[in-house]
Amino acid sequence: MRPHIGVNEKNHLTIGEVDAVELAEDFGTPLYVVDEMRIRERYQEFHDAFDDYPKVELKYAYKANTSLAVLHILRQEGAGADVLSAGEIYLALKVGLKPEQIIFTGNNKTDEELELALEKGIIINFDAIHEMERLERICVAKGKKAMVSFRVNPAVSPRTHPHLATGLRESKFGIPAEEALEAYTRAMESEYLEIRGIHMHIGSQITGTKAYEEAASKLLDIAGALKEKLGLGLEFIDFGGGVGIRYEKDKPYITPRELAKKLIPIVESKIEKHGLKEPTLYFEPGRYIVGDASILLMRVSTLKQTPYKKFVGVDGGFHVLPRPVFYGAYHKAVVANKAGLRGEERVDIAGNVCESGDILARDRLLPRIDDGDIIALMDAGAYGIIMASQYNSRPRPAEALVNRGSYELIRQREGIDDLINKQRVPRRLR
Ligand code: PLP
Repeated sequence: MRPHIGVNEKNHLTIGEVDAVELAEDFGTPLYVVDEMRIRERYQEFHDAFDDYPKVELKYAYKANTSLAVLHILRQEGAGADVLSAGEIYLALKVGLKPEQIIFTGNNKTDEELELALEKGIIINFDAIHEMERLERICVAKGKKAMVSFRVNPAVSPRTHPHLATGLRESKFGIPAEEALEAYTRAMESEYLEIRGIHMHIGSQITGTKAYEEAASKLLDIAGALKEKLGLGLEFIDFGGGVGIRYEKDKPYITPRELAKKLIPIVESKIEKHGLKEPTLYFEPGRYIVGDASILLMRVSTLKQTPYKKFVGVDGGFHVLPRPVFYGAYHKAVVANKAGLRGEERVDIAGNVCESGDILARDRLLPRIDDGDIIALMDAGAYGIIMASQYNSRPRPAEALVNRGSYELIRQREGIDDLINKQRVPRRLR
């Protein structure tokens, strides 16, 4: 069990010392529940892991979870932001981050997004040379200089789900490492581009350090070549995000401390080898910070025993938590109102989306389940509520925040009106 998760005297699951069944009753289901202290703890753990290096900044990856309360918690902790759209720039500024704390990565940025980042003074991390050329045109038109870096694809293969590997040679992200020198040379020729750093992000849910080591080493050699060949010193080296969490017992995982132990010596030796001025190291953790801080509560509606399986039907599906269906992801399932009881039957937790793939948890040994029971899917904080949709015309779920025994709603459940309130029906069709 995670430190913020427990079982009380009623055999109910608790999160942040709050009874999960009470939360489901107060706010209804499906309901995401976030533990504030767990987010703070994980942020500090990641930050402290790199204590041996003097200059480290964490840019929380907004894509993992942009609930405003979560963003405020992380701002209070001192996190900057890794953003990938105009919407995320808006959110980062809205919660009070300074432009210099924000790095705008993302791929296929629109002119409007480039203009916004330029206007606000945010670092723009190019995903392509063409993007640089487009920004330069905008800078010339506006008579304004931009702070920039390049996302470099180091062509490494972390062991993770194919959809989560972003630094493979054939991946769509970044510029190939072999073209880095050319890209930086081009950027240096422009009086409108101020080069600040270099970036990589090799994937998500990474459970070993090898690919990081290989990629970091390549990135630092590129930084060395930039210094030696172009006389260019970089202020920052951004190693991206990707540190995985332990969704499933007995599966491999790494901690930020283990990563730091491997990366810092590489950084130090390359600084020495290439005579670099000590760069600030950026990391962009998303999942590691928010992933295990949330659970998703759903109520059991229908039970079905077929000759092959028992299905436990719940009032949520992949429109609420897409990960099991998108990535075949595992989320531990707990019967929240029977949390202390022994497993007795093997069941599939079936979502309520009208698609046969909508199974949220397969073949799980759980206590005997009745209708009305509450199923909790654990570790649902990253790429959970942020990916929720209205598919099958179901309003998006609510979200509650718990903090050492107290709780409050941080996101209202959408209403039926939210299904239609942005739509217009031409008069002739009415
Ligand atoms: N940085 C970038 C550029 C990303 O695309 C992502 C997510 O894929 C992250 C950081 C965060 O990754 P994770 O949540 O695995 O830490």
